[in-house]
Amino acid sequence: MATDYDAPRKTEEDISEDSLEELKARRSDKSSGVVDEDEIEAAEGFELPGADLSGEELAVRVIPRQADEFTCTSCFLVHHRSQLVTQKNGQQICSECA
Ligand SMILES: [Zn+2]
Repeated sequence: MATDYDAPRKTEEDISEDSLEELKARRSDKSSGVVDEDEIEAAEGFELPGADLSGEELAVRVIPRQADEFTCTSCFLVHHRSQLVTQKNGQQICSECA
């Protein structure tokens, strides 16, 4: 609640007037307890696409390994093939974890 109010003021001073009016309106609604549902909906609307994007970015960042590299199943770091140690159970770990 307090953070909602502060964030736009810090980062977007140019539109602070609009934001303030909006927030004031929401604030007065909040005192009646009506705005809670709207806030939850808004939060969900922001979180869902945000989570998807961050997930994709994360996957892209973690997975791209070169053909001569592998991901250690123990420390989950990407190592060069020269450090690859394949265990009897088929798991590929790095020489540091072996
Ligand atoms: Zn390792």
